[in-house]
Amino acid sequence: MAEPGRDDPVERLVEALARIPGLGRRSARRAALRLLTEPERLLHPLRSALKAAADSVRPCSECGNLDATDPCGICADASRERKSLCVVETVADVWALERARAHRGLYHVLGGVLSPIAGVTPESLALPALLRRVEALGVVEVILALPATVDGAATAHYVTDRLAGRSIVITRPAQGVPIGGALDVLDEGTIAAALKGRRPL
Ligand SMILES: [Zn+2]
Repeated sequence: MAEPGRDDPVERLVEALARIPGLGRRSARRAALRLLTEPERLLHPLRSALKAAADSVRPCSECGNLDATDPCGICADASRERKSLCVVETVADVWALERARAHRGLYHVLGGVLSPIAGVTPESLALPALLRRVEALGVVEVILALPATVDGAATAHYVTDRLAGRSIVITRPAQGVPIGGALDVLDEGTIAAALKGRRPL
């Protein structure tokens, strides 16, 4: 049997799967084989799910969450507390906090944290949009659920600094909990407890 070339559909599938974070080439090859040997059960449902997601899921123009509607389901939900804003690094954090039912307000996804070394400036993140939203919504509480890293702390400091002088309570989740990005791997009880035990900065 000839070696599959670059245009070979099997090879293309393996290549595409291998680019998914955490999968790697070996797992990608195994996944491709399973998909191809069980097309009805695995390959075709995956194709239609990928098409539906690619066609409809976009970042929410208000908070940055990913959803099939814009504004997203959270921003459009009239029962959410609109004056409490939880600031997170990534969409994964929103989903983790939602799974834990830890926050009944709105979110704001920064898309990263400030990093002078990596050239990440406030303008390259959704920080100007955050300040505009705080104003527009009349926010009274900002929860900074950002990573417990130097860059996360610098970002929290920036936000605190920019919101100084307004009657806004700025809090962060209980200390000792790895939060931001890593939220995803925590169990729901831990996330909920961390947010419930939030304290002023
Ligand atoms: Zn939204």
